Amino acid sequence: MINSIGILGGGQLGMFLCEAGKKQKKEIYIFSESPEFSSKRFCKGWSVGELNNLNKINEFINKVDIITIETENIPLPTLKFIESKKKLLPSAHIIEITQNRVKEKYFLNSLKNIKTTDFLEINSFDDLLATQKIFGNEFIIKSCEFGYDGKNQFKINQENIKSFQKKNLKHFIAEKIVDFELEISVIVCRDIFGKVISYPPVENTHINGILSTSKYPAKIKTSIIKNSISISEQIAESFDLIGIIAVEMFVLKNDTILINELAPRPHNSGHWSLDSCKFNQFDNLINSISKQSVCHPNIFVKSAVMKNIIGSEYLNKEKIMKSSKFYDYFKKDIKAKRKMAHYTITED
Ligand code: ADP
Ligand code: MG
Repeated sequence: MINSIGILGGGQLGMFLCEAGKKQKKEIYIFSESPEFSSKRFCKGWSVGELNNLNKINEFINKVDIITIETENIPLPTLKFIESKKKLLPSAHIIEITQNRVKEKYFLNSLKNIKTTDFLEINSFDDLLATQKIFGNEFIIKSCEFGYDGKNQFKINQENIKSFQKKNLKHFIAEKIVDFELEISVIVCRDIFGKVISYPPVENTHINGILSTSKYPAKIKTSIIKNSISISEQIAESFDLIGIIAVEMFVLKNDTILINELAPRPHNSGHWSLDSCKFNQFDNLINSISKQSVCHPNIFVKSAVMKNIIGSEYLNKEKIMKSSKFYDYFKKDIKAKRKMAHYTITED
């Protein structure tokens, strides 16, 4: 019986997990790198420390029955250390692959009928110049690790390429720019019994690489809905996942699906499920890691639109709260490009 769960990371995803855990009488403990964090007022207890401080991590994991994550950006030695002592779900292997864009792309392209955009590894300015010869003048580079919300990503073109000469380009990936029709994502939960449930694809828009809106249902052909779910479930199965995974995808004009990236944790594009499903993404993550069966989402709305409140948009919160389901992330400071809150408008 799983009574207590430790979460690495204390942001808003951890906050929603605390709420889902409470419904099932689980005690949730948080490990946070910063002393102020969104889930502080919702958890049973917490530890503050560096994620690479194995003594602190050891103390933390000794307090709980099982460990999960709310960010994949966790040092690999820490993941391996935890796994050698306690049950970590998703496994260190899944997190290792999904925290590194190159490993993730090789993994995805090794699966039958699954494709990503073309990519090349970059470790130097010379590699960047060589990539330009292959990909043409415009492409994207991203740091392989520790990037999120568009951080450490740059669009390269003929005009700016020289300005990267002095930049440390070790462990970068270059990607061909995808001329997509739209972006969608599917969230999959899989339990210890091998049962899989999926939240149907939502349509996502981004501003400056940061998720702005997610809309359910995605306005796409039934065949793309089916295909996106089946690809996402195939990915979860091939990882032998226990837990949750979000699959971000590009849909091209000719209906081809390319996988953009994976996140083995609850995902911002699944927040609509908080107000639209009997069992939201956080409920099902708790189910799957607590040796319980995952439950069909049971969507009870006709449509839902989730919008992120980023940076100074937060100053308008009083107005937004009046006409939507509003979720404050209780962040200490307003910062540009920081997710401060979100709201959802549903139609029954
Ligand atoms: P993050 O980890 O920051 O979410 P992503 O790789 O998902 O990084 O990139 C953020 C967004 O940038 C994507 O959702 C998409 O809108 C855009 N983007 C990323 N890579 C590409 C690409 N190769 N072609 C076109 N757009 C891209
Ligand atoms: Mg992304």
